[in-house]
Amino acid sequence: MHIAKASILGIPVAQINMEQLLTWVEKRIEERQPPAHVVTANAEIIYRAWRDQQLAHLIQQADLITADGSGVIWAGKKLNTPFPERVTGVDLTQRLLALAAEKGWQVYFLGAKPEVVEKAVLRVLSQYPNLQISGYRHGYFSKQEIDQVVANIHMVKPQLLFVALGAPRQDYFIRENLTRMNVPVAIGVGGTFDVLAGTVSRAPKWMQKWGLEWLYRLCKEPRRFGRMLALPRFVWAVWQQSKNLQN
Ligand code: UDP
Repeated sequence: MHIAKASILGIPVAQINMEQLLTWVEKRIEERQPPAHVVTANAEIIYRAWRDQQLAHLIQQADLITADGSGVIWAGKKLNTPFPERVTGVDLTQRLLALAAEKGWQVYFLGAKPEVVEKAVLRVLSQYPNLQISGYRHGYFSKQEIDQVVANIHMVKPQLLFVALGAPRQDYFIRENLTRMNVPVAIGVGGTFDVLAGTVSRAPKWMQKWGLEWLYRLCKEPRRFGRMLALPRFVWAVWQQSKNLQN
């Protein structure tokens, strides 16, 4: 399956829609291909990677990078390499859970606070009673506990691993432990478990449609302000990239 990629500040983001992505995941699992790392990349993480070579290298090694957020969609347009649609961690997780329930794949949830991941699992199970959950664990573990976390995932053999430790921590975790965990598909999904648990609500549909989800999150969690300063910086850097391409 050939997937075209758009280079956004040096990060190769897949020009792929949700259906194609689901097909890609299905192929990886059903054909027992080697473990794959999926990054859901928003403007903030792409900008961080632009400033941090180690992070850029890590993300570039991922098997698939999705355009998560309106900033990245805007960048695709600006650079004349448009994305068919936004593929966010929350949407992707929800679609994959439905598919996993249908196909009988085992899933594992790693991340978020203990009460949040527990609630997320309970809510997901009430939505998909047939879903096979091979395990779950909160995301507040120490360096010394990593081996045990990894060994447990390896032992219960899920087909799909959702890692919600926040970016880029989740991506370092997946990259460093992917082979040892031997999971067909591992995806970093940020704050998704908080949404699944219902402890954080998503922006109304109209705000999502107008690319204003970031504004909604900012109003709900003003402490994110510092992090969100990456957004105008990202816009400026992409604008520079587009000017360089024209010259
Ligand atoms: N988290 C975690 N372990 C940590 C730090 C954070 O499991 O050491 C969880 C946190 O509880 C939340 C998620 O990671 O559920 C990060 O959410 P955020 O919305 O910040 O994600 P991002 O914006 O980075 O995608």
